[in-house]
Amino acid sequence: MKSFRIMLALVMLFASLLWLLLGTSAPVYAIISERAQIIPSAIQATFGATIVWIIATILFGRIYCATVCPVGTLQDIVIWSKRKANPKKTFRFEEGSKIRYIVLLAYLASLIAGIIVVGYIIEPWNIMRNAASVVRPADTAMTLQAAGLSVGIGSAIGLAMIVAILIWAWTGGRKFCTTLCPIGTALGCLHSQSLMHIAIDPDKCISCMKCEDVCSARCIKVSQRFVDNSRCIRCFDCTDVCPNDAIRFQLNRGRHRQTPLMEMHNS
Ligand code: SF4
Ligand code: SF4
Ligand code: SF4
Repeated sequence: MKSFRIMLALVMLFASLLWLLLGTSAPVYAIISERAQIIPSAIQATFGATIVWIIATILFGRIYCATVCPVGTLQDIVIWSKRKANPKKTFRFEEGSKIRYIVLLAYLASLIAGIIVVGYIIEPWNIMRNAASVVRPADTAMTLQAAGLSVGIGSAIGLAMIVAILIWAWTGGRKFCTTLCPIGTALGCLHSQSLMHIAIDPDKCISCMKCEDVCSARCIKVSQRFVDNSRCIRCFDCTDVCPNDAIRFQLNRGRHRQTPLMEMHNS
């Protein structure tokens, strides 16, 4: 499952970059990658991709974040490079930040109020598009001007956002995805009720910590046999690394915090 998702993510990243750099002269499969994104489908009011991803999230969770979003895949490449550079540096569980809900509410309020500049700065696809306007200024000029930004400022903001997100990924994993991205938080709200979940089997877990070590969303707490599925980006790194098949992608069982009998007895 992990290999398939990595392959798909790299293909989608390549296709997205082609579209961002070449525009409508890109090959058809690159244009399809743009149509598969949530934000363009919402902006163009076609909503096809948005509806598909809402249904997919309800069924399987945030697979959009692990496969199709180019900002997510760029972060994964940085996280992978960091692992190669320093294999001993591992991730640890962090409580989910409430900031993500405040950002989501501010983002929705700005959309309702017609202040589209907020979306242009923080939506992942627009971050990529703004940065790409360095190469294709004419194609983004109109939309940036509609948001009250010049092409120069728009591309500077896009590039600065990408650099900041990737530095954050190097130091803390998928922090942008679990703290600031309004699309990720909105999907996470659906996702926490999704049909399929990542869950730890307390009877099989041997507390080796390997899954918590690799979780870039920092949403696994082995000591409590707990996975915060609202932040899980369905990378399947944890299921791949577990030596005992104790953490699995499964139908919605084990949603609640599970505490092994031994720990309950000791506490
Ligand atoms: S949380 Fe946002 S930036 Fe991260 S992968 Fe999902 S949509 Fe992309
Ligand atoms: S819980 Fe597993 S699948 Fe979810 S983000 Fe963490 S490592 Fe990836
Ligand atoms: S990798 Fe498997 S056995 Fe190890 S702590 Fe995680 S769930 Fe438990």
